[in-house]
Amino acid sequence: MTKELVFGHKVPDTDAIVAAKAYAYLQNKKGYDVEAVALGEMNDETKFVLDYFNEKAPRIVETGSNEVNQVMLVDHNEPQQSISDIDKLEVTHVVDHHRISNFDTSVPLFYLAKPYGCTSTILYEEFNRFGIEIPAELAGMMASAIISDTLLLKSPTTTKYDEDALNELVKISKIDDLQEYGIQMLKAGTNVESKSDSDIILGDAKSFNLGSKKVTIGQVNVVDLTDITKRANDLKVAMKSDNDKNSSDLFLLIATNVLDSDSKLIVVGEPKESVEKAFNKSLDENDMMDLPGVVSRKKQVVPPLTDIMN
Ligand code: MN
Ligand code: MN
Repeated sequence: MTKELVFGHKVPDTDAIVAAKAYAYLQNKKGYDVEAVALGEMNDETKFVLDYFNEKAPRIVETGSNEVNQVMLVDHNEPQQSISDIDKLEVTHVVDHHRISNFDTSVPLFYLAKPYGCTSTILYEEFNRFGIEIPAELAGMMASAIISDTLLLKSPTTTKYDEDALNELVKISKIDDLQEYGIQMLKAGTNVESKSDSDIILGDAKSFNLGSKKVTIGQVNVVDLTDITKRANDLKVAMKSDNDKNSSDLFLLIATNVLDSDSKLIVVGEPKESVEKAFNKSLDENDMMDLPGVVSRKKQVVPPLTDIMN
Protein backbone atom coordinates (compact mmCIF):
# COMPACT_ATOMS: atom_id res chain seq x y z
CA MET A 1 0.00 0.00 0.00
CA THR A 2 1.27 3.48 -0.76
CA LYS A 3 2.10 5.68 2.14
CA GLU A 4 -0.40 8.17 3.54
CA LEU A 5 -0.14 10.94 6.09
CA VAL A 6 -2.65 11.42 8.91
CA PHE A 7 -3.00 14.71 10.75
CA GLY A 8 -5.29 16.85 12.88
CA HIS A 9 -6.02 20.55 12.33
CA LYS A 10 -3.63 23.49 12.13
CA VAL A 11 -2.69 25.02 15.49
CA PRO A 12 -2.95 21.51 16.94
CA ASP A 13 -4.48 20.85 20.34
CA THR A 14 -4.00 17.65 22.33
CA ASP A 15 -6.80 15.79 20.50
CA ALA A 16 -5.42 16.79 17.07
CA ILE A 17 -1.99 15.35 17.94
CA VAL A 18 -3.17 12.30 19.88
CA ALA A 19 -5.94 11.32 17.45
CA ALA A 20 -3.40 11.41 14.60
CA LYS A 21 -1.06 9.13 16.55
CA ALA A 22 -3.89 6.81 17.60
CA TYR A 23 -5.38 6.59 14.12
CA ALA A 24 -1.97 5.96 12.58
CA TYR A 25 -1.43 3.15 15.09
CA LEU A 26 -4.84 1.61 14.33
CA GLN A 27 -4.53 1.95 10.55
CA ASN A 28 -1.01 0.49 10.56
CA LYS A 29 -2.38 -2.50 12.47
CA LYS A 30 -5.03 -2.84 9.75
CA GLY A 31 -2.33 -2.92 7.07
CA TYR A 32 -2.17 0.66 5.88
CA ASP A 33 1.15 2.48 5.65
CA VAL A 34 0.44 5.64 7.61
CA GLU A 35 2.54 8.27 9.38
CA ALA A 36 1.08 10.68 11.93
CA VAL A 37 2.28 14.25 11.37
CA ALA A 38 1.33 17.64 12.82
CA LEU A 39 0.36 20.90 11.13
CA GLY A 40 2.21 23.03 13.66
CA GLU A 41 4.01 23.20 16.98
CA MET A 42 2.47 21.50 19.99
CA ASN A 43 1.02 23.64 22.79
CA ASP A 44 2.23 23.42 26.41
CA GLU A 45 -0.58 21.06 27.45
CA THR A 46 0.22 18.61 24.64
CA LYS A 47 3.94 18.80 25.45
CA PHE A 48 3.11 17.90 29.05
CA VAL A 49 1.09 14.88 27.85
CA LEU A 50 3.77 13.56 25.50
CA ASP A 51 6.49 14.05 28.14
CA TYR A 52 4.36 12.30 30.75
CA PHE A 53 3.94 9.22 28.57
CA ASN A 54 7.44 9.43 27.14
CA GLU A 55 6.22 9.73 23.55
CA LYS A 56 7.80 11.42 20.56
CA ALA A 57 6.27 14.51 19.01
CA PRO A 58 5.04 13.95 15.46
CA ARG A 59 7.00 15.52 12.60
CA ILE A 60 5.69 18.93 11.55
CA VAL A 61 4.79 19.37 7.89
CA GLU A 62 3.73 22.43 5.88
CA THR A 63 2.55 20.57 2.79
CA GLY A 64 1.70 16.98 1.88
CA SER A 65 1.64 16.68 -1.90
CA ASN A 66 5.45 16.76 -2.06
CA GLU A 67 5.54 13.36 -0.32
CA VAL A 68 2.17 11.59 -0.66
CA ASN A 69 -0.97 11.55 -2.81
CA GLN A 70 -3.40 10.49 -0.11
CA VAL A 71 -4.15 11.68 3.42
CA MET A 72 -6.40 10.94 6.38
CA LEU A 73 -7.90 13.75 8.47
CA VAL A 74 -8.68 13.56 12.15
CA ASP A 75 -10.30 16.15 14.45
CA HIS A 76 -11.25 18.49 11.57
CA ASN A 77 -12.70 18.60 8.07
CA GLU A 78 -12.93 22.28 7.10
CA PRO A 79 -10.28 22.93 4.42
CA GLN A 80 -9.10 26.25 5.88
CA GLN A 81 -8.18 24.38 9.08
CA SER A 82 -6.30 21.69 7.14
CA ILE A 83 -2.96 21.28 5.37
CA SER A 84 -2.19 24.17 3.01
CA ASP A 85 -2.23 22.02 -0.16
CA ILE A 86 -5.33 19.98 0.76
CA ASP A 87 -6.78 20.71 -2.72
CA LYS A 88 -3.92 18.71 -4.30
CA LEU A 89 -4.45 15.65 -2.05
CA GLU A 90 -6.99 12.84 -2.00
CA VAL A 91 -8.66 12.47 1.39
CA THR A 92 -9.25 8.74 1.97
CA HIS A 93 -10.47 8.83 5.59
CA VAL A 94 -11.92 11.35 8.03
CA VAL A 95 -12.60 10.77 11.72
CA ASP A 96 -14.09 13.86 13.31
CA HIS A 97 -16.47 15.33 15.87
CA HIS A 98 -17.03 18.83 14.40
CA ARG A 99 -19.61 20.36 12.08
CA ILE A 100 -19.02 19.48 8.42
CA SER A 101 -18.43 22.59 6.34
CA ASN A 102 -17.03 23.30 2.85
CA PHE A 103 -15.94 19.67 2.63
CA ASP A 104 -16.01 18.20 -0.90
CA THR A 105 -14.26 15.24 -2.47
CA SER A 106 -14.12 13.88 -5.99
CA VAL A 107 -13.98 10.23 -4.91
CA PRO A 108 -15.73 8.12 -2.24
CA LEU A 109 -14.07 7.91 1.18
CA PHE A 110 -14.37 6.56 4.70
CA TYR A 111 -16.00 9.33 6.74
CA LEU A 112 -16.71 8.71 10.40
CA ALA A 113 -18.43 11.56 12.22
CA LYS A 114 -19.95 11.28 15.66
CA PRO A 115 -21.20 14.16 17.81
CA TYR A 116 -18.98 13.18 20.73
CA GLY A 117 -16.81 15.37 22.94
CA CYS A 118 -13.54 14.12 21.45
CA THR A 119 -12.12 12.41 18.35
CA SER A 120 -10.14 10.09 20.61
CA THR A 121 -13.44 8.74 21.99
CA ILE A 122 -14.52 7.79 18.46
CA LEU A 123 -11.13 6.14 17.95
CA TYR A 124 -11.44 4.24 21.23
CA GLU A 125 -14.62 2.69 19.83
CA GLU A 126 -12.81 1.89 16.56
CA PHE A 127 -10.07 0.01 18.43
CA ASN A 128 -12.80 -2.03 20.12
CA ARG A 129 -14.68 -2.59 16.87
CA PHE A 130 -11.57 -4.08 15.26
CA GLY A 131 -10.48 -5.90 18.42
CA ILE A 132 -7.14 -4.09 18.47
CA GLU A 133 -5.48 -3.67 21.86
CA ILE A 134 -4.48 -0.17 22.94
CA PRO A 135 -0.97 0.07 24.44
CA ALA A 136 -0.81 1.68 27.91
CA GLU A 137 1.00 4.86 26.73
CA LEU A 138 -1.42 5.39 23.86
CA ALA A 139 -4.36 4.83 26.23
CA GLY A 140 -2.92 7.49 28.55
CA MET A 141 -2.60 9.94 25.67
CA MET A 142 -6.14 9.21 24.43
CA ALA A 143 -7.45 9.72 27.98
CA SER A 144 -5.58 13.05 28.01
CA ALA A 145 -7.20 14.11 24.73
CA ILE A 146 -10.64 13.41 26.22
CA ILE A 147 -9.74 15.35 29.39
CA SER A 148 -8.53 18.24 27.20
CA ASP A 149 -11.54 18.43 24.86
CA THR A 150 -14.15 17.93 27.59
CA LEU A 151 -12.33 19.83 30.40
CA LEU A 152 -12.46 16.73 32.58
CA LEU A 153 -15.99 15.82 31.41
CA LYS A 154 -17.38 19.24 32.44
CA SER A 155 -17.89 20.73 28.98
CA PRO A 156 -21.45 20.52 27.58
CA THR A 157 -19.94 18.69 24.61
CA THR A 158 -19.33 15.68 26.87
CA THR A 159 -21.33 12.55 26.08
CA LYS A 160 -21.79 9.27 27.92
CA TYR A 161 -19.44 7.76 25.30
CA ASP A 162 -16.65 10.13 26.34
CA GLU A 163 -17.15 9.27 29.98
CA ASP A 164 -17.12 5.52 29.29
CA ALA A 165 -14.07 5.76 27.03
CA LEU A 166 -12.17 7.92 29.53
CA ASN A 167 -12.82 5.51 32.39
CA GLU A 168 -11.73 2.50 30.32
CA LEU A 169 -8.64 4.28 28.95
CA VAL A 170 -7.57 5.36 32.43
CA LYS A 171 -7.75 1.70 33.50
CA ILE A 172 -5.50 0.63 30.60
CA SER A 173 -3.09 3.53 31.15
CA LYS A 174 -0.84 4.08 34.13
CA ILE A 175 -2.81 7.08 35.43
CA ASP A 176 -3.74 6.28 39.05
CA ASP A 177 -5.79 9.34 39.96
CA LEU A 178 -7.86 10.74 37.12
CA GLN A 179 -8.88 14.01 38.85
CA GLU A 180 -5.37 14.77 40.03
CA TYR A 181 -3.77 13.97 36.69
CA GLY A 182 -6.48 15.86 34.80
CA ILE A 183 -6.10 19.09 36.78
CA GLN A 184 -2.31 18.89 36.53
CA MET A 185 -2.55 18.39 32.76
CA LEU A 186 -5.09 21.20 32.19
CA LYS A 187 -3.00 23.56 34.32
CA ALA A 188 0.07 22.78 32.21
CA GLY A 189 -1.69 24.55 29.34
CA THR A 190 -2.61 27.69 31.29
CA ASN A 191 0.69 29.44 31.83
CA VAL A 192 0.01 32.68 29.97
CA GLU A 193 2.52 34.87 31.85
CA SER A 194 5.38 33.70 29.67
CA LYS A 195 3.40 33.93 26.42
CA SER A 196 3.40 36.77 23.92
CA ASP A 197 0.13 38.49 22.96
CA SER A 198 0.28 36.82 19.59
CA ASP A 199 0.78 33.35 21.13
CA ILE A 200 -2.23 33.91 23.36
CA ILE A 201 -4.61 34.97 20.61
CA LEU A 202 -3.37 32.44 18.03
CA GLY A 203 -2.32 29.53 20.27
CA ASP A 204 -5.68 27.81 19.73
CA ALA A 205 -7.29 29.80 16.93
CA LYS A 206 -9.61 28.56 14.20
CA SER A 207 -11.07 30.43 11.27
CA PHE A 208 -14.63 30.14 10.04
CA ASN A 209 -16.60 31.52 7.12
CA LEU A 210 -19.84 32.70 8.67
CA GLY A 211 -22.27 34.24 6.21
CA SER A 212 -20.14 36.60 4.10
CA LYS A 213 -17.67 37.24 6.94
CA LYS A 214 -14.37 35.70 7.83
CA VAL A 215 -14.25 35.12 11.57
CA THR A 216 -11.29 34.01 13.70
CA ILE A 217 -12.07 32.49 17.08
CA GLY A 218 -9.20 31.95 19.50
CA GLN A 219 -9.44 30.27 22.88
CA VAL A 220 -7.04 30.38 25.78
CA ASN A 221 -7.27 28.32 28.98
CA VAL A 222 -6.39 29.95 32.30
CA VAL A 223 -6.91 29.36 36.00
CA ASP A 224 -7.46 33.09 36.62
CA LEU A 225 -9.31 35.25 34.06
CA THR A 226 -7.52 38.41 35.22
CA ASP A 227 -4.33 36.98 33.69
CA ILE A 228 -6.02 37.83 30.39
CA THR A 229 -8.20 40.85 31.25
CA LYS A 230 -5.26 42.79 32.69
CA ARG A 231 -3.58 42.72 29.28
CA ALA A 232 -6.75 43.07 27.18
CA ASN A 233 -5.60 46.29 25.50
CA ASP A 234 -2.42 44.70 24.17
CA LEU A 235 -4.33 41.57 23.13
CA LYS A 236 -6.80 43.72 21.19
CA VAL A 237 -3.96 45.39 19.28
CA ALA A 238 -2.67 41.92 18.33
CA MET A 239 -6.18 40.80 17.30
CA LYS A 240 -6.64 43.90 15.12
CA SER A 241 -3.31 43.30 13.42
CA ASP A 242 -4.19 39.65 12.79
CA ASN A 243 -7.53 40.70 11.26
CA ASP A 244 -5.68 43.11 8.94
CA LYS A 245 -3.06 40.54 7.99
CA ASN A 246 -5.59 37.80 7.14
CA SER A 247 -8.38 40.03 5.79
CA SER A 248 -10.50 38.69 8.60
CA ASP A 249 -13.54 40.72 9.67
CA LEU A 250 -14.00 39.69 13.24
CA PHE A 251 -11.77 38.23 15.96
CA LEU A 252 -13.22 36.65 19.10
CA LEU A 253 -10.93 35.60 21.91
CA ILE A 254 -12.48 33.29 24.49
CA ALA A 255 -10.54 33.15 27.75
CA THR A 256 -11.74 30.09 29.66
CA ASN A 257 -11.23 29.37 33.33
CA VAL A 258 -10.72 25.61 33.26
CA LEU A 259 -11.40 25.24 36.97
CA ASP A 260 -14.68 27.23 37.09
CA SER A 261 -15.94 26.55 33.52
CA ASP A 262 -16.58 30.24 32.86
CA SER A 263 -15.33 32.41 30.03
CA LYS A 264 -14.63 36.03 29.18
CA LEU A 265 -15.00 37.12 25.58
CA ILE A 266 -12.95 39.88 23.92
CA VAL A 267 -14.10 41.11 20.50
CA VAL A 268 -12.23 43.05 17.81
CA GLY A 269 -13.62 43.95 14.36
CA GLU A 270 -17.11 44.01 12.91
CA PRO A 271 -19.98 43.24 13.04
CA LYS A 272 -19.90 43.45 16.85
CA GLU A 273 -23.72 43.59 16.98
CA SER A 274 -23.79 40.01 15.68
CA VAL A 275 -21.82 38.91 18.73
CA GLU A 276 -24.16 40.80 21.04
CA LYS A 277 -27.20 39.27 19.30
CA ALA A 278 -25.70 35.79 19.37
CA PHE A 279 -25.28 35.89 23.14
CA ASN A 280 -28.20 38.24 23.78
CA LYS A 281 -25.93 40.47 25.82
CA SER A 282 -24.07 43.79 25.42
CA LEU A 283 -20.33 44.16 25.19
CA ASP A 284 -18.90 46.43 27.89
CA GLU A 285 -16.94 49.63 27.16
CA ASN A 286 -13.81 47.50 26.60
CA ASP A 287 -15.57 45.23 24.09
CA MET A 288 -15.62 42.40 26.59
CA MET A 289 -18.44 40.17 27.83
CA ASP A 290 -18.76 37.59 30.61
CA LEU A 291 -19.96 34.20 29.41
CA PRO A 292 -20.72 32.17 32.52
CA GLY A 293 -20.86 28.44 31.85
CA VAL A 294 -19.48 28.80 28.33
CA VAL A 295 -16.44 26.63 27.63
CA SER A 296 -17.03 25.13 24.19
CA ARG A 297 -16.22 27.06 21.04
CA LYS A 298 -17.85 24.53 18.76
CA LYS A 299 -21.02 24.01 20.75
CA GLN A 300 -21.63 27.30 22.58
CA VAL A 301 -19.97 29.95 20.41
CA VAL A 302 -19.90 28.91 16.73
CA PRO A 303 -23.58 27.77 16.47
CA PRO A 304 -25.26 30.95 17.88
CA LEU A 305 -22.89 33.12 15.85
CA THR A 306 -23.58 31.07 12.70
CA ASP A 307 -27.35 31.46 13.21
CA ILE A 308 -27.06 35.25 13.43
CA MET A 309 -24.49 35.75 10.66
CA ASN A 310 -26.03 33.48 8.00
MN1 MN B 1 -9.05 19.87 18.19
MN1 MN C 1 -11.23 17.31 19.25
